[in-house]
Amino acid sequence: MSKLNIIPVFVPHYGCPNDCIFCNQRKITNKNYADDLIKTRLDIEEYLTFFSNKNQETQIAFYGGSFTGLSEDVMIEYLKLANFFIDKNLVNSIRLSTRPDYINDSILEILKYYNVKTIELGVQSLDDDVLYYNNRGHNSHTVFKASEKIKEYGFELGLQQMIGLYKDNYEKSLRTAKRFVEIGPKFVRIYPTLVIKDTKLEDLFLKGIYKPLTIDEAINIIKPIYIMYSLNSIDVIRIGLQPTDNINEGKDVVAGPFHAAFRQLLLQEIFKEMSSKELSLFENGEEISIIANNKNISYLVGNKGINKKYYSSEFNINKIKFIGTKEDNSKVIIKSNIEKIKIDIYNYYREYLRNLEV
Ligand code: SF4
Repeated sequence: MSKLNIIPVFVPHYGCPNDCIFCNQRKITNKNYADDLIKTRLDIEEYLTFFSNKNQETQIAFYGGSFTGLSEDVMIEYLKLANFFIDKNLVNSIRLSTRPDYINDSILEILKYYNVKTIELGVQSLDDDVLYYNNRGHNSHTVFKASEKIKEYGFELGLQQMIGLYKDNYEKSLRTAKRFVEIGPKFVRIYPTLVIKDTKLEDLFLKGIYKPLTIDEAINIIKPIYIMYSLNSIDVIRIGLQPTDNINEGKDVVAGPFHAAFRQLLLQEIFKEMSSKELSLFENGEEISIIANNKNISYLVGNKGINKKYYSSEFNINKIKFIGTKEDNSKVIIKSNIEKIKIDIYNYYREYLRNLEV
C-alpha cells in the first residue's frame, strides 16, 4: 500500500446499539458530541504539525466502531469538520470503518458528497453460524450486498476478519478468506480474537465454554489466509490489535493470543519454513549466505535471531550470513561456495496452498 499520513479520530459510540459478544464498547453512552467535535478539531490540528512528508496523501480516519451507525446529524457534523481541512488543502480525503448493515444508498451518497475515499467493513466472518453465535446482528448476505454497493459507488473497500471467534475453526476461517478474495477488497485486516474484560465472551471463557486460541494456533490459521491474500494482491495492512494502554495482557485482555508484533511472528514463521525446505539440500558444515530484500531480512533472521539459531542447529551450518539488498522483494537467494538456490516467494506460496488443497 502506498504510504499515507493518517490522522486517527476515534469517534465515541454514543451507545452502540449492537452487542457483539467479544466487544465491550457498547457500554459507552451519554457522551456529548459537541464537546467531542471541538476536541477532534484540536487533535487534527495537532496531528497536522507532526507529518514530515507533506507530499504524501493525508487522510482523516474515523475509527472506533460504526461510523455510519451514528445518527445522520452527528455523522454529517464529523464529515463537515473533516471537509473543513480538505477545503484548506491540509487533508486529501477521509476513511472510516463501519458495519455492513449500516450501508445503503442514502448513506453512500452522503459519504461520496463529503469526500470519503475508503470504507472498511467490520465483517469478522462469512460463516452464518459464527456470525449468529457471536451476536453480530447481520449475516453473510448483508456483507456481500454492502461490499458490492461500496465498490459500485467507487469507494476503496477494506474488510476486517477475525479468527478464533466463538464456534469458529480453521476450515471456517479459510472459507471466509476465500470468499473475501471473491469479493476483492483493496485491503484487509486480520484480528485474532481476544477475550476482553466485561464481555459475554469473558463469561463464556470463565465458564469453560469458550477456549481461546494459543498464539501458535492463531499463526497456523493466519498463515494460509495471509498467503491467499498476498497471492491475490490484497494488502494485509494489519495483523493483531495494536497494543494500547488497555489492550495489553493483564489489563483489558483477559485471555487469548495477544502479541504486540503479530506480523513479525507470522512472517518469520513463513520465511523459516520457506528457507528450511531449501537449506536441507546443502551439505553439513557448509558456509551459507542468505540474500534478500531489506524488507524481508528481519523475517529470515527472526526476532532475537530465533530463525538463525534454528537453521544453524537444524542443518548443521557452520556459518550463516544474511545480506539485505534493495533488489526484487519477491526473491530469496541461498548460496554456498558450490551451490546457489533462488526461491521465488510467490511460487512457494502457490505450492503451499496447492499442498493444503485450498
Ligand atoms: S464490535 Fe462494533 S458493532 Fe459490535 S458491539 Fe462493538 S462497536 Fe458495536
